[in-house]
Amino acid sequence: MPTINQALRHAALPRLEARMLLAHITGLSHAAMVSAGHDELPVAQWLAYQALAARRLAGEPVAYLLGQREFYGRDFAVSPAVLIPRPETELLVETALDKLGRERQARVVDLGTGSGIIACTLALEAPQWQLSAVDLSPEALVVARHNAANLAARVTFYHGSWLAPLPQDAHYDAIVSNPPYIEQHDHHLAEGDVRFEPRMALTDESDGLACLRAIAAAAPERLLPGGWLLVEHGYDQGAACRALFQAAGLQQVATLQDLAGVDRVTLGQRP
Ligand code: GLN
Repeated sequence: MPTINQALRHAALPRLEARMLLAHITGLSHAAMVSAGHDELPVAQWLAYQALAARRLAGEPVAYLLGQREFYGRDFAVSPAVLIPRPETELLVETALDKLGRERQARVVDLGTGSGIIACTLALEAPQWQLSAVDLSPEALVVARHNAANLAARVTFYHGSWLAPLPQDAHYDAIVSNPPYIEQHDHHLAEGDVRFEPRMALTDESDGLACLRAIAAAAPERLLPGGWLLVEHGYDQGAACRALFQAAGLQQVATLQDLAGVDRVTLGQRP
């Protein structure tokens, strides 16, 4: 059987990806794999590694092959039922923490929670907050509930469309969402990892603004006075989102740029 070093060189994969797959299969850290580089792989691990490498070469995302992805310093389970967590979504989390303050009590809901990264992270970063999370996909809710239990995040989950399944009389200090915002014919839908992600988490099957429109229209009346609506959106949707937020009567409307310097989060406050 090949050694760890030989296995890493064998696959036509970028070195980091090969290391991630082999670390997953051997259960070794990257550091441990370096010191064990000349050890022979057990046959079962060599076969498992070759199978994963082949799937990766056929395009499957590393996050789905490993069944997990890191977000805001924590490991979240992911499956093809949910979007793969993106680092730019950390801006939405940071902004919500910043606008409300971690120390106060607050009721917050995450619409279209997917794997639950936003709701779980907020619940863990701001333990005084009461988190709810909604998704239309029962399969996504299975993943989100698993993550909440695994991370000991206190989140109440609801199945349904946007605000509809929430208690009628519930009002929130913040409504956050990273909704599907890719336009239906966008070429990105046919490229790379995105091809393997759930289409309903990516696109509204319209102009990319349909979900953002629905959320902006419905959210203000479910916000407490002074409550915030915060959404993630595409690099070219900042102006459109600000217009939707203003039309919905929100104030302090602003768009923030992510680490790549592109418009990513728009927020507004109920007077
Ligand atoms: N809220 C989840 C995330 O940020 C899912 C977003 C989505 O499915 N569009 O990853």
